[in-house]
Amino acid sequence: MKEYNIAIDGPSGAGKSTVAKLLAKKLGIMYLDTGALYRTVGLKAKRDGWKEDNALVSDLLSATDIKAEFSGGRQRMYLDGEDVTDAIRLGDVSDYGSRFSALPCVRAALLGLQRRIAAENTSVLDGRDIGTCVLPNAEYKFYLTASVEERARRRYEELRAKGEDVDLDRVKADIAARDKRDMTREISPLRKADDAVEIDSDNMTAEEVAERMISFVKNGRSA
Ligand code: C5P
Repeated sequence: MKEYNIAIDGPSGAGKSTVAKLLAKKLGIMYLDTGALYRTVGLKAKRDGWKEDNALVSDLLSATDIKAEFSGGRQRMYLDGEDVTDAIRLGDVSDYGSRFSALPCVRAALLGLQRRIAAENTSVLDGRDIGTCVLPNAEYKFYLTASVEERARRRYEELRAKGEDVDLDRVKADIAARDKRDMTREISPLRKADDAVEIDSDNMTAEEVAERMISFVKNGRSA
C-alpha cells in the first residue's frame, strides 16, 4: 500500500534525478523519472518529424504506445514496444522533449500515467510540475535549484563522460533556453510550489541534498 509521495521539481541539471535515485535507494521506495516520459514523446516526434501543433500531435499521440516499466530498481521506457531507455538520453532528444512538453495534449496524455504510478507506489517523482500540478497533495515537496553555470558544468561533464563532443558555452546556452521555455510555457510552467522546501545545490553534494530531504521525511514533516 502506498505510504507517501515525494515531489522534486526544479530546472534542468539541478541534480534532481541523481538525488531522486539516492532517495529511492535509501528509503527503499520507487523512483519515477517523469522527464523520461517527455523524452520518449520527444524521440517519437523527432523520428517521425512531428510539427508542434496541438491538434495534430493529439491525434498522433493517441496512436502511440508509451510505457514505463520498473525492474531491479530501474525504469525502462518503451515506445511502441521498442525499448528506448538509452535512445532517449542521446543527442537532442531532450530538446524535442522540452519543446513538445509545452503542448497541452502531451501534458494531458502523460498526467494520468504519472498519477496512476504515484497512487499505487510509495515513490519519489522528479520533474517540473510534480508539486504544482501532478501531485498537489504530495506529502513532501522539494524545489531543487543550482546556478546556470553549475548546471551547465554538470551537464557538460556528463555528456563528455558519455563520449559526446560538446562545448561548454553551447551547453550553457541550451540550458538557459530550456529554463526559459520550461518557466514561461502557458501550461504547467516550472515554478516552486508554495509549500515546497527550496534547496540550492550549488555547494552541496547529491548525498548531502538527499540527507537533507530524508531528514524532512524522517521527521514526518509535511513540506
Ligand atoms: O528532466 P529531463 O531533462 O529528462 O526532461 C526533459 C524535458 O521534459 C524538460 O526539459 C522539460 O521541458 C520536460 N519535462 C516537463 N515536465 C516534467 C518533466 C520533464 O515538462 N515533469
